[in-house]
Amino acid sequence: MQEAPEGYVESYSGISVTTTPDRFGVNFFKRFDVVLNALDNVDARRHVNRLCLSAETPLIEAGTTGYLGQTMVIMGKQTECYECQPKPTQKVYPICTIRSTPSMPVHCIVWGKELYKLMIGSAPDSMLFEDEEGDKKSTFMSPVVNERLKVEEKPSPEKLLKYTKSALTALFTTEINKQLGMDRYKGAKKIPVAHDIEAMAKGLEAGVLNPPSESEGGEKRVWTNEECCQEIYCIVSEMYTGATSPPDIFSSSVAFDKDSHVAMRFVTAAFNLRASVFKIETNSYYTAKGVAGNIIPAIATTNAIVAGQEVFELIKILKHGKDKVMEVCKFTYCLRAKTRKGFFLQPTSLQRVRRWSRRGTRQGRERRREERIWE
Ligand SMILES: [Zn+2]
Repeated sequence: MQEAPEGYVESYSGISVTTTPDRFGVNFFKRFDVVLNALDNVDARRHVNRLCLSAETPLIEAGTTGYLGQTMVIMGKQTECYECQPKPTQKVYPICTIRSTPSMPVHCIVWGKELYKLMIGSAPDSMLFEDEEGDKKSTFMSPVVNERLKVEEKPSPEKLLKYTKSALTALFTTEINKQLGMDRYKGAKKIPVAHDIEAMAKGLEAGVLNPPSESEGGEKRVWTNEECCQEIYCIVSEMYTGATSPPDIFSSSVAFDKDSHVAMRFVTAAFNLRASVFKIETNSYYTAKGVAGNIIPAIATTNAIVAGQEVFELIKILKHGKDKVMEVCKFTYCLRAKTRKGFFLQPTSLQRVRRWSRRGTRQGRERRREERIWE
């Protein structure tokens, strides 16, 4: 890319196109002859897809999962777009499983993500948020949410430690004991055991920040419960007083993001504390990140193949013009096993946009479409 003459290729990194619509609106996309996607999530793809459609700019879209990949070209009024086919929705777990009866690590990871919103971020958006109206008194809303400290007052290390300890006690001691008292786990295979947070947090000293995530191999080993308390205290301190902390940590803009190191550290620590209460297998930061982000390992060669395929489509568009996309461009699958003809790449014709289609869709293609990958 650096070899391209100035002005031909523009690259932007570290900017979210979905949260900065003013900067990356239709006019931004109208400036280009063609747009190539190299994205890692469905939201960003939808966003670029919609803007390219309204800007009438051809879009070359690609994705990979392990050995599988695909490249497609989207041109408004000619081909079907990124959103013409429904995408498989992310797996959702029943709220009661997350809140009180987790049985798998993933349930505790989802809980950790929700707790992140409750402690840092927009609390009402969290699945764990409890409405305290009437006689339904929550054991943890007050210590976790109502007693959040004021960021602008730069709370002292002592206050931060006190807040962390009381929030963790509410979540891992009081709440668990309350549920046990309600006989919720009568007859359950595994009976949860509340943590003694006071004992676990004994070694914590106000102002002493030694997050286990930064210890040697810290991301690959499973932290002890004591270390998880330490990690959460460090994150709370960093979020309230750190130089890089966002101005309003309680706004919905501080949503969980698997690529945020601080969010994943928090989720790992909260997940492990929760999992050990319910006698569920604990895991490392590294493993938790894989689950939290639903990450399927990326293979560099597959990425290189689909990127190369994108460039082929780019050349075709530059050569023939955007009016000929339907005729000259292809939807190409990158396969794991060779086709009967001995190829790993299988180009198929692009699907015409629905309302322009005269014939019904072929079954084979219908089936293939379900196999498409959107990561
Ligand atoms: Zn569409």
